[in-house]
Amino acid sequence: MMPDYHILYRGPLSSCNYGCTYCPFAKRDETYAQLEGDRQSLERFVSWIELQDRSLSILFTPWGEALVRTWYQQAITRLSWMPHVRRVAIQTNLASRLAWLEDCQPERIGLWSTFHPTETSIERFGNQVLKVLQSGTRISVGCVGLKEHFDLIEQLREAIPREVYVWINAYKREANYYSPADVERLIAVDPHFVTNNTRHESFGEACFAGETSFTVDGEGDIRRCHFVGDVIGSIEDADWENCLHARRCPNTNCGCHIGYVHLKRLQLYPLYQEGLAERIPADWSPSRKARST
Ligand code: SF4
Ligand code: SF4
Repeated sequence: MMPDYHILYRGPLSSCNYGCTYCPFAKRDETYAQLEGDRQSLERFVSWIELQDRSLSILFTPWGEALVRTWYQQAITRLSWMPHVRRVAIQTNLASRLAWLEDCQPERIGLWSTFHPTETSIERFGNQVLKVLQSGTRISVGCVGLKEHFDLIEQLREAIPREVYVWINAYKREANYYSPADVERLIAVDPHFVTNNTRHESFGEACFAGETSFTVDGEGDIRRCHFVGDVIGSIEDADWENCLHARRCPNTNCGCHIGYVHLKRLQLYPLYQEGLAERIPADWSPSRKARST
């Protein structure tokens, strides 16, 4: 059964231990005061979640890398023990220590893990994936589909157990970046690649964002999604649920998985079901496990 609400959280944190050249958060440091502000914002969000009586799925989508910060590890641990939190997931580069997973309810946690070819090796990343699997935590793994990384992406697929879904984020900054042969090659790794390689026309389309899915920022402000800036409410409001209702998208298109997955006409909820937050198709684990045995 789907949770009542899918909540995305992004606090002020904006720093990372990795140095990907294209990224504004690469190797960026923050002051103690900035980090403390992020910790307090997260604490307020988690305490608010604790008070709710709806079934919830939570996805952390930080700017930069959050799992290297102990307060995110502690927040996820705490959330995993809340009976109404069906899933708590986070986007991560998987570089942090993973011992904290031992204190969690692992089946409630999902790690949306991105492999960064310039920052780590398949072997090192693969060892981290194995540790996550051994802990019983749910995990998806993926990479940006740059042409120069095609070979590495295939090697990654080979190195990771078949039971783990490997997604590919399409490089969409250049129009017609992929040839038909490229697309075929990437579909062999990620059967859902074409969905990601599309900027879905969304203007006027019905979307769960702002109805049963919404984002919360470090101030507690509620928006329908990360791509529409209007603040629609606040977690400080006693009647915050009143800001949610059926809505239509005001944007021309929606090209990012964490957005279009909520676009009603794409009908992706049945595809992902309980794995929606951590991006694991519902039929992935059992079918791929069976195929590899
Ligand atoms: S791991 Fe992610 S956040 Fe960190 S530098 Fe690379 S792209 Fe940026
Ligand atoms: S289609 Fe995308 S941009 Fe539009 S409201 Fe939904 S999530 Fe937001």
